[in-house]
Amino acid sequence: MTLYNCHTHTFTINHVPRRFIPPVLTALIKLKGVRWFARKLWPFTDRDLIERYINFFEVSLSASQAEVFNRLQGYYPNSATEQTKCIVLPMDMAFMKAGPVPVDLDKQHEELSKLAQLNPAVIPFIGVDARRNNLLKMVQKWHKQHGFKGIKLYPPMGYYPNDIRLEPVYEYAQANNLPVMSHCSRGGVYSKKVTKAMLQEPHPLGKPVVKQKPKAFTDIYTHPANYELIANKYPNLKICLAHFGGDTEWDKYFEDAWSPDSSEENKSWLAVITDLIQAHDNIYTDISSTLFKKDHYLDLLLVLLENKKIRERVLFGSDFYMMEREKSEERKMAIKIRSRLGETLFKQIAVTNPKRYLGE
Ligand SMILES: [Zn+2]
Repeated sequence: MTLYNCHTHTFTINHVPRRFIPPVLTALIKLKGVRWFARKLWPFTDRDLIERYINFFEVSLSASQAEVFNRLQGYYPNSATEQTKCIVLPMDMAFMKAGPVPVDLDKQHEELSKLAQLNPAVIPFIGVDARRNNLLKMVQKWHKQHGFKGIKLYPPMGYYPNDIRLEPVYEYAQANNLPVMSHCSRGGVYSKKVTKAMLQEPHPLGKPVVKQKPKAFTDIYTHPANYELIANKYPNLKICLAHFGGDTEWDKYFEDAWSPDSSEENKSWLAVITDLIQAHDNIYTDISSTLFKKDHYLDLLLVLLENKKIRERVLFGSDFYMMEREKSEERKMAIKIRSRLGETLFKQIAVTNPKRYLGE
């Protein structure tokens, strides 16, 4: 049996803009001695905050994507009876206004392509940003010549998934059975100020775009309701809204009182996504990051999976190596999810649904 982890990353610090992580911190953490010293200095348990952040940085400091992937592969079954394949999602971070990216996107894709040729467990996706020139050409190149299997979007980087510049990509993806994976949880972006252009861009749902803090603005781009129009316009384009809305929205679902009559704004993104899944046949979601964060989310997931349509649209994923920042380790949580779901449900989200999503 082949299991699928539908959401992983292998990009390294070389693919991240220079100013994204404070240069002093990068310089310090690059020194092995500093990492050793920080670990020794910290007198508590072996998996505390500082340890986790150092683990995270150590992964990102890896010299190659192959090195990062080896670590990931070591957390999952890889035996004669059970193998694991992973969708690897590149990041186009060139337009986030955080300075130059040391190794450009083309090189990032090239390295990933070589890794996928050597290791059949790698399922490479193409990193797409609406603001990049010659987008369609780039997508065609990595799909046709190098066998990449899907499209990765990251709207909080500063664009709507409905951006008109993405339409040729959606058309091509739909015609060629390439699924889309789009980041869908709050925050998680670098944005210094709200520009005039950002305010003038028409909101996909026709809402007025009012000046807010940059952080709030990223949520306007990322909002799952933006996908309603895309789901209708491209009914055969499979779109996965990653992270199932994210942990803050799962907390909101648990903690806030709301009814079907309450306004869209008050609705948890989790509910927006499940509504989208019910209303369309091409919307998926994944449990990456979110379900690795808090134990009691598993109870809610089990209840949600009672619904047939939702059960057939949820994908297993972890968000490696972002998980190295969390208290719960990759393997521990992956096994916990599998055991709590039971083999039938786990196979549904880690084998059956991923295969359909990937068009295999
Ligand atoms: Zn991710």
